[in-house]
Amino acid sequence: MIPAIFLGHGNPLHALAHNGYTDAWNRIGREIPRPRAILAISAHWYLPGTAVTIATAPRTIHDFGGFPSELYEVQYPAPGDPELARHVQQLLAPAEVALDDSWGLDHGTWSVFRHVYPAADIPIVQLSIDGTMPARYHFDIGRKLMPLREEGVLIAGSGNLVHNLRTYAWNQSQREPYDWAVRFENAVRQKVVAADAESLINFGSLTADAALSVPTPDHYLPLLYVLGTRQPGEAVRFPVEGIEGGSLSMLAVQIG
Ligand code: ZN
Repeated sequence: MIPAIFLGHGNPLHALAHNGYTDAWNRIGREIPRPRAILAISAHWYLPGTAVTIATAPRTIHDFGGFPSELYEVQYPAPGDPELARHVQQLLAPAEVALDDSWGLDHGTWSVFRHVYPAADIPIVQLSIDGTMPARYHFDIGRKLMPLREEGVLIAGSGNLVHNLRTYAWNQSQREPYDWAVRFENAVRQKVVAADAESLINFGSLTADAALSVPTPDHYLPLLYVLGTRQPGEAVRFPVEGIEGGSLSMLAVQIG
């Protein structure tokens, strides 16, 4: 069975970088069994609704502003997988899942997968996050997606489980982490190890630091999809660690 993984993507510039995070992402790609396809849940496809991409050649979306022109030139030409998209739609029924041909791969997906699978030769489908739904809904979707892991599909959430851009030191990635960021990240980590899904679904009361660590849920929720696919007793690992710029957790959570 293929693992499921949550990846902290952080600054889009990691797409062009070679550093400890990008090395660790590359290692993940070499160490886990090669999937036949990837289902990516990115913090940056956050909608009022659930949708899957059906393009056979999804476009690389440069969904950010104010970065060097080099970053806008990056292409990640992984193919799509319309058949997988329809399969996801069936698995999630009776929830309504739209088949979308306008989105493609946003930077939550390609800035990381460029390092995990540099050849861009594994098909990718993106699944949107319905921002109108409560946390439990997203965990339950993960549950329903669990069979995909048996079918060789890598379920990959991409966000940051601590994500505060107001306190983020843009020009100082080595800035010491804020105490509250460390505390919240540790609390998440402990609950993941303890397989305490209830506490992780109710992340707003996980510690007193939740409001600072998760000011909006978009970057946290991809973690719940991944945790939803966990089977009883399954091992967990943290193959990437670190907090960049004081308030972005780069922690990766690998199930299986
Ligand atoms: Zn992001």
